[in-house]
Amino acid sequence: YVSKFSEKTPKSREIWLKLRKLTPYGVHSNWRVFEPHPLMLQKAKGSRVWDVDGNEYIDYTMAFGALVVGHANPVLLEKVKQKMDEGTIYGYETELSCKLSEVVTRRYGFDMVRFSNTGSEGTLLAIRLARVATGRSKILKFEGHYHGSHELLMVGVKPDLKHAGHPKKPRSVPTGFPYHVVPKELAENVVVAPWNDAEAIEEIMKVHGNDIAAIIMEPVAMNMGVVPAKKDFMVFLRKIANEYNSLLIFDEVKTSGMWYRGAQEYFGVKPDIMVAAKAIGGGFPFAAVLASKELLELVGPRKVPHGGTFNANPLSVYAAYVTLTELLTESNLAYTHKLSEELAKGYRDIIEDKGFEAHVVQVANKGTIYFSREEINTWRDFVLKVKWGPWYVWTLGMVIRGIIPQAMAYDEQWTISIMHTRDDIQKTLEVANIVAAEMK
Ligand code: PMP
Repeated sequence: YVSKFSEKTPKSREIWLKLRKLTPYGVHSNWRVFEPHPLMLQKAKGSRVWDVDGNEYIDYTMAFGALVVGHANPVLLEKVKQKMDEGTIYGYETELSCKLSEVVTRRYGFDMVRFSNTGSEGTLLAIRLARVATGRSKILKFEGHYHGSHELLMVGVKPDLKHAGHPKKPRSVPTGFPYHVVPKELAENVVVAPWNDAEAIEEIMKVHGNDIAAIIMEPVAMNMGVVPAKKDFMVFLRKIANEYNSLLIFDEVKTSGMWYRGAQEYFGVKPDIMVAAKAIGGGFPFAAVLASKELLELVGPRKVPHGGTFNANPLSVYAAYVTLTELLTESNLAYTHKLSEELAKGYRDIIEDKGFEAHVVQVANKGTIYFSREEINTWRDFVLKVKWGPWYVWTLGMVIRGIIPQAMAYDEQWTISIMHTRDDIQKTLEVANIVAAEMK
């Protein structure tokens, strides 16, 4: 498969070799590293992407979940193209940023909102707000949960087992962990907990609870495949946060593109602060931090700093407005869930038929194949139980036949957009059958 991949993608390789001399690993985001080389894409439409060698793929990466509207969505692009004639950025607010603020606060049920561009910026503001609001400095986060590329929340992201602490013991994380870029003073302010383990959280809160400004989580952990919070665990987190007067933050950078009202719709639990991003911008850089008036009014000149040249730029704002009002509707999202279920069912049938040591987890328009029969509830489970080898072979086997089955990283998942079709799912399963037979 590796040599077939290389044979099919010589131009990608050529460009990558050149790029590698100009930027580390030949990628501008670490999550794009792929062996033997990453694909270089040229264009995209609907559910399809084309690489520089002219190969066509059915894509389930959907820009790491940023494209639930689909690639080059015609409704969105037509409108944004027209908008572009009015200028790209003003450095002032617009009437549309007011309209979008209304749409977003109503949809997710919060008093106020602040816009920025990326998920990382959103989570940064969320924890800053929580620390100022509570006068506390510590953050409780979960092992393997990713909240963006910034120091504090990088603690406990994708640790290898050597560096992971005991899952049941309240603990802070060693200095500089995991990349030796987090200063000790910062790392000491982060307590890392195992996901889906109420007992461990109780122990941790007994020790650190009165210093914890916020508990931050991905409600469905999606930087280790797809690991939803158990519903009673989520209820427990809300309760224990209240008990210790800590705030609950939902990092919905990915989940805001899954349900109309985001994770609160699925779990029946409402956070104090919600960070939405990726899919709600329809493929344009856009993030929103939502909270009560009391909390968000802490932001302001000589109060909690929050600024950004590109914040609420008219193109992203318009794209988000069209996306939320016309495209990510309840019925369109329900359609993506249905296709996602069909894909999951098809994969499950193949796994059963071939007797593979694997299982599928699917939630809403996301899903993944774990090459393990065991249930995956924590990062530790993921590292210990899931086999990387078969995942890699599987991915390559699919890619050389024109299907990118999920973001090309084994801790990611598939995203079904509103532009995927039943025919796409069928084609994908036909190819999956062939690859599975070869793997067998
Ligand atoms: N939070 C979550 C849950 C994410 O998955 C990501 C990105 N994959 C981020 C935050 C960071 O978002 P961005 O890359 O837009 O900064």
